[in-house]
Formats: sequence, C-alpha cells, structure tokens
Amino acid sequence: MRLIDENGLRIDGRKVDELRPIRIEAGVLKRADGSAYVEWGKNKVIAAVYGPRECHPRHLQDPSKALVQCRYNMIAFSVMERKRPGPDRRSVEISKIIAEALEYVIFTEYFPRTSIDVYIEILQANAGTRCAGLTAASVALADAGVPMKDLVPAVAVGKVDNQVVLDLTKEEDNHGQADLPMAIIPRTGEVLLMQMDGHMTVEEFNKAIDLGYKACEKIYQLQKDALRRRYAVEEIETFEEAQHPQTAMEE
Ligand code: ADP
Repeated sequence: MRLIDENGLRIDGRKVDELRPIRIEAGVLKRADGSAYVEWGKNKVIAAVYGPRECHPRHLQDPSKALVQCRYNMIAFSVMERKRPGPDRRSVEISKIIAEALEYVIFTEYFPRTSIDVYIEILQANAGTRCAGLTAASVALADAGVPMKDLVPAVAVGKVDNQVVLDLTKEEDNHGQADLPMAIIPRTGEVLLMQMDGHMTVEEFNKAIDLGYKACEKIYQLQKDALRRRYAVEEIETFEEAQHPQTAMEE
C-alpha cells in the first residue's frame, strides 16, 4: 500500500511535515473544575479535571504532594469495530504515561494529601489519541486553575514509505514503519513523553524529533489561544450579568 504519492503528498493530501487540522476549546463542561475538547483530524477527545480534592483511595495520600491520577478511556464507538468497554493493557499504559507527564508540570507540592484527577475520554479515534489526550488534559488543568510550570503539547511523528512524517493517521500508523509520540515544553525543550514503535535510523530519528519540536510549538500556541478565548468570553458574560442581572438570572 502506497502512503505517499509521487508529489510527496499523503493519502489525506498533507505534506510530510504538515499537521492535521486541530481545534481546541477550553471549558466545555459545567460540572468539572476544568475541561477541554480537542478535535484533531478525525480524533475527538474530551478531558475533564477534578481537584485538587480529597485523595481516594486514602492510602495513596502523600503528605508531601498531590497525587496526579489519570484515566484514559476509549469509548465503545470510538473505533471501527466496537471496542470492549473498560480498561485494558493499552489504556492502563497510556493513563500512566500521561499522568507522569502531567505530574512533571503541576506544582504538586502546593497541595499535599490531595488528588488531582484527570479523565480523558476518546470519543473518536484515528491514531495519535495519547497525544491529543495529553494536549487536551493540560488545557483542562489550566482551565481548572491548577498551578503548572507550563502547558504540555504533544504530537506523534513517524516513518512511512521510508520518509519521516508528522502526525500519523490510523492508516499511516497501521502500514507505516515507525510511530514516535512525543511531548515537550517548547519554552525549555524538556521532553515529557517519548515512546517509539518500529525502526528508524539515527538520522531519521533526529529529523523526526526536529519535526516534532516544531509541531509542538504550533500546538502550544493553539492551547494558549483556546485558554485566551475561554476567558475573553467569560469577561463579556460577567459584564452582561452586571448590566442586566435580572435577564442573566432568568437564563
Ligand atoms: P494512539 O491513539 O496514541 O496513536 P496507538 O498507537 O496504540 O495509540 O493506537 C493507534 C490507533 O489505533 C488508535 O488511535 C485507534 O484509532 C486504533 N486503536 C487502538 N486501540 C484499538 C482497539 N482496541 N480497537 C480498534 N482500534 C484501536
């Protein structure tokens, strides 16, 4: 199966160094302390954050810092064949690596004995969901007002048809030669997540990392824009409520 044509374009028409369209919205859920929705190509992901709150189970409480707990979950209709509901090896692994990346940026020492709970629901999946999930989760944490060193943008790079490509789709992931999800803080260059499936030469690996870094910078801007939009709207609402308190209450 050919994944890159003679003009260097991929099946969905993208160039090798092009991201899929990404849309990020912050503050989409009323009942969560913070939330975010991410549409990333055909991926649809929602993240909700609760806390810092009392830590359950209690024996996991840490007197020196907050515990960051994450549950990544793919819902039954998120993939072509119905996915069996509930945790599996893959979702346990993804929950763990996302929690570890987030723990690194959150000032957990500010909230001893508490738990910060992050829920990631994959509504629709088309490869790169751990990256979309982590991207959404850090926006949701910021929306919840959890103090953090920085936001965490993430993206997968890989190799298909012997070429290094950015942001693999499901087809490219299935028929490609390598998949390398990564998360970095653009400001400092710190790497918070890096995994790899498949094979690459050192040269290809360096090229892939370079592509990933540049893409993370773009995703980081989208994360910040989403948070700015969220709080710009809030200001207008508050202003209207102040002007017409009666109408605001009736609504
Ligand atoms: P990521 O979503 O982070 O790329 P994987 O590389 O493990 O993680 O998975 C790639 C893609 O394979 C997923 O995004 C999803 O589209 C598909 N997939 C994963 N698990 C299942 C499953 N249990 N059933 C069907 N498709 C799945």
